[in-house]
Amino acid sequence: MRIAMIGTGYVGLVSGACFSQFGIDVVCVDKDKQKIARLEAGEIPIYEPGLDKLVADNRAAGRLTFTTDLAGSVATADAVFIAVGTPTRRGDGHADLSYVYAAASEVADALRQYTVIVNKSTVPVGTGREVGRIVRERRPDAEFDVVSNPEFLREGAAIEDFMKPDRIVIGTQSERAREVMRAIYRPLYLIETPIVFTTLETAELIKYAGNTFLATKITFINEMADLCEKVGADVHDVARGIGLDGRIGRKFLHPGPGYGGSCFPKDTLALAYTAREAGSPVTIVEQVIQVNAERKKRMAQRVVEACGGSVAGKTIGVLGLAFKPNTDDMRDAAALDILPALLTAGARIQAHDPAAMEEAARHLKGIDYKDNAYDVAKDADCLVVLTEWTQFRALDPKRLKELLRRPVVVDLRNIFNPAEMRGLGFVYESIGRPQPR
Ligand code: NAD
Repeated sequence: MRIAMIGTGYVGLVSGACFSQFGIDVVCVDKDKQKIARLEAGEIPIYEPGLDKLVADNRAAGRLTFTTDLAGSVATADAVFIAVGTPTRRGDGHADLSYVYAAASEVADALRQYTVIVNKSTVPVGTGREVGRIVRERRPDAEFDVVSNPEFLREGAAIEDFMKPDRIVIGTQSERAREVMRAIYRPLYLIETPIVFTTLETAELIKYAGNTFLATKITFINEMADLCEKVGADVHDVARGIGLDGRIGRKFLHPGPGYGGSCFPKDTLALAYTAREAGSPVTIVEQVIQVNAERKKRMAQRVVEACGGSVAGKTIGVLGLAFKPNTDDMRDAAALDILPALLTAGARIQAHDPAAMEEAARHLKGIDYKDNAYDVAKDADCLVVLTEWTQFRALDPKRLKELLRRPVVVDLRNIFNPAEMRGLGFVYESIGRPQPR
């Protein structure tokens, strides 16, 4: 079995490395020459725990290679996975499918034998059929099938998620393609991972329905947190109290500054667009998108209020920039909304993130990037927690207090204990955990 993985980003690189760990020959292709050169030199271009070892081991075993030569890789592959980006299209919120269709055309030109073309990118309903049409039009002679195999891994826990998924979704009407997919996922089949076989369209919609449901769950608990602050309830107890109900479940009930990242913002927008186009609008999801966008904006205002109504001339220390811990991904991170708003309001900002500072510096100018969390606290008028990295949870509040110019902490991830912080004399703001009456 040979796989060509087109697109060696977060999903392509992790999936390619994991498939090679299954014993399959995998060639990861990317048009970004620099990325491929780094990978060939043994460097991992993204931060993902455990990925360096997985890649090194499988390269050493000769099962995992990297190239910019798409045609050569596709010609000998049994399955070609398309794992290119599908960002939000400018203007209307729909998914930009230009990378997927460009990859499909290139793949078509290179086909030499029966090949399963697998769409791993998150794509709106109808994209798989369009990929099939593009390939057939360019290569009426080619033998191929198109499969939708959406990916559910989470950055930061990507390898574990890939190796032990809750389920695998495979959308195709072709029994021949299904056989190839069964063979690829055989190691997971053996550990009894549920496999949902369905049509192309259903598989495509499952991915969006999943992500928008999770975004809705987060937005729900965020609104509960706001309500808790007004009525004197504790959102963590509410989350536990409802989450223990098996019908609701405990996960994704952590309040925060609003969801961000490489998937939820663009996937909620794309589903809303698809649904409007289909004449069956998903009004809940449209509301979620709006509530979340407003929430992110409001977070900067919370910091301003904690600073006494103005941040002009004040120094704000920011802990965490990535959209979540254990990644360097800055796509749609809350920091990209909150920090520019604070800068515009006249604040000076000093910040630290264990993995995302290089990436953040590309998007956020005018920030003083520090080597560690304590340097961020030094002489700051307010400390803001934006990403819940484990190392921030272990910070010594007493030391932070000594370093801060004013003992003000706005904890948008609820990593500190309110009673302890207030006991130490902090002005401590968190999400959905009001001051005791
Ligand atoms: P990414 O931007 O990290 O990687 C995409 C890669 O594809 C880039 O390296 C780019 O250079 C390459 N590429 C684009 N066109 C190409 C072509 N024609 N030939 C070769 N390479 C090409 O994106 P990502 O985060 O890995 O996401 C990929 C897809 O997977 C998206 O649709 C995304 O929604 C979905 N997804 C992402 C995650 C996640 O956590 N990042 C999880 C599940 C699904």
